[in-house]
Amino acid sequence: MQVIPPALERLITDFSKLPGIGRKTATRLALYILRRPASEAQVLAEDLASLHTSIQLCSSCYAFSETDPCGICGDIRRNNKFVCVVEEPGDLLSIEKTGAYRGVYHILHGVLSPMDGIGPQELKVKELLNRIRHQDIEEVLIATSSTVPGEATASYLMDQLDRFSIKLTRLACGIPMGMDIKYADEHTLARAIESRQQVKG
Ligand SMILES: [Zn+2]
Repeated sequence: MQVIPPALERLITDFSKLPGIGRKTATRLALYILRRPASEAQVLAEDLASLHTSIQLCSSCYAFSETDPCGICGDIRRNNKFVCVVEEPGDLLSIEKTGAYRGVYHILHGVLSPMDGIGPQELKVKELLNRIRHQDIEEVLIATSSTVPGEATASYLMDQLDRFSIKLTRLACGIPMGMDIKYADEHTLARAIESRQQVKG
């Protein structure tokens, strides 16, 4: 006898595939949705279905956006000669929250991780180099996390960017070693941007 109805089982299985969600939590979420009015489940289903159709990558910075260019790249008050390179879209949000940065971004969509088969080709590195080649960029601030893969990615980028006549900076002290910048508080992150260290140029 099947205890869990198949439709519920499918939803539990779907939720279990999400990061950080085990089967127990997945079951709790699925049961919660089942107990709520059907209209709420409908809204959730529509939001999920429209996610990939309404959100794309900005063709300049590779942030998730409903417009191309995204709101930041399209904002004429931002300094588009100053590019902050981050690992993930979540890092952009953390830096934006500080209000300390008025330049634009470049999202790598990951970090170098040879063990997981992630090399420069899997990241938006070529796109960054093209941007520097074709746009009038004065400064690149490398804001990868101070984790081992984050540092490896930063060194790789510094090597690649060395040939361009641009100012190259890195986030300064304040971000503890091994810390993902997503978890840094706003003041620490703001200070790290303000006291960024010049590595070249
Ligand atoms: Zn953009």
